[in-house]
Amino acid sequence: MLITRAYKTELDLNDEQVTACKKHAGAARFAYNWALARRQEVYQATGKSVWAMELHRELNARKKDDLAWLYEVSKCAPQEALRNLDNAFRHCFRRCQLKKAGKLKGKVGFPKLKTKKKGLGSFRLTGSIAIFSDAIQLPRLGRLRLKERDYLPVAGVKVLSATVSEQAGHWYVSIQVEQEQAVPANSGPVVGVDLGVKALATFSDGTVIPNPRPLRRRLKKLKRLHRVVSRRTKGGKNRRKAARQLATLYGKVANQRKNTLHQVTTTLAKTKSVIVIEDLNVSGMLKNHHLAQAIADVGFSEFKRQLLYKASWYGSRVVLADRWYASSKTCSGCGWVDENLRLSDRTFRCQQCGQTLDRDLNAALNVAKLAGSRSDNANACGASSAGRSRKVPVKLPAKAGAKSRKKQERNAG
Ligand SMILES: [Zn+2]
Repeated sequence: MLITRAYKTELDLNDEQVTACKKHAGAARFAYNWALARRQEVYQATGKSVWAMELHRELNARKKDDLAWLYEVSKCAPQEALRNLDNAFRHCFRRCQLKKAGKLKGKVGFPKLKTKKKGLGSFRLTGSIAIFSDAIQLPRLGRLRLKERDYLPVAGVKVLSATVSEQAGHWYVSIQVEQEQAVPANSGPVVGVDLGVKALATFSDGTVIPNPRPLRRRLKKLKRLHRVVSRRTKGGKNRRKAARQLATLYGKVANQRKNTLHQVTTTLAKTKSVIVIEDLNVSGMLKNHHLAQAIADVGFSEFKRQLLYKASWYGSRVVLADRWYASSKTCSGCGWVDENLRLSDRTFRCQQCGQTLDRDLNAALNVAKLAGSRSDNANACGASSAGRSRKVPVKLPAKAGAKSRKKQERNAG
């Protein structure tokens, strides 16, 4: 199966290269903002949309005139930025139509100007890109060293593009490649997964993945840093310094979250043949303010997204259970429903058959049962992907009780 996927890794740049990258990012940002303003101008004058091709021609003409500095960067940087703007408008128009049809409640997301205050941003390059075990060669930028050896695929892939981005002082490159993926026969067991706030995930075989809660742990420090930033003089050097520290901390939180999610989803997709998850109404749950922070911290929708594309790579199947199924309230043994179960009750006690077990495990067992009844949505998102999946096996704490394992076998069979 031919798949498109991305590999992202950190660059090890010298000062000269950092300057060059900053120039490219600046050119991309300039082109995007210029084009956005230009589009609005033209639309107000003529009522028509201008797209990237036309805008690029116009920008090129100005290169000979007042924008000579654009010669210093690869022509891809502004060109791809204009394409990004095209996409932003397409998404916006699509959402406008959905809104008209009454299928969308959120914002339509009109493209915004890019600002340097929120990080230096990124730029995309296409054309001749060569990958080595410890370096990558990009047009105009030359050979850039990588911090990690042998992560990027050197052979057997077709490189479509490379995106260089900056976050909190670190520079990364993400390459998009087309590669042949042999989908293995997956003969693993069926597993139900209950995603939670107390524990990140509970499997129906009894495995519990503890929640790293990266944000919660650093919340105090984040609060303090936010305060420091707001106390510094606006536009001053010290404010910029403090803002940078804050960005670094947020970067750490994001990385830790990504790492845990990738490890769990990869293990699931590789070792289980059918994975049943509850299709949680995440945006609805985020409106419940008490739960909001905890849920956003766990990254539920990202969990689902990763699981779907990884399942298509490793030959497993994802079943999305109905979001209104009362998996927590129903007894996994006899089907009795506890209407009085509260979120604070961590143990499920059945009044009918007497079964007593962990609340999340009970939910996971119920979810696993749905594997047979529902089979849609499998591999819904196909082979598209972005982001980094590392092939690191996770050592999961074995906490499976004999009782629940027996139950699992009964349910699966
Ligand atoms: Zn029961």
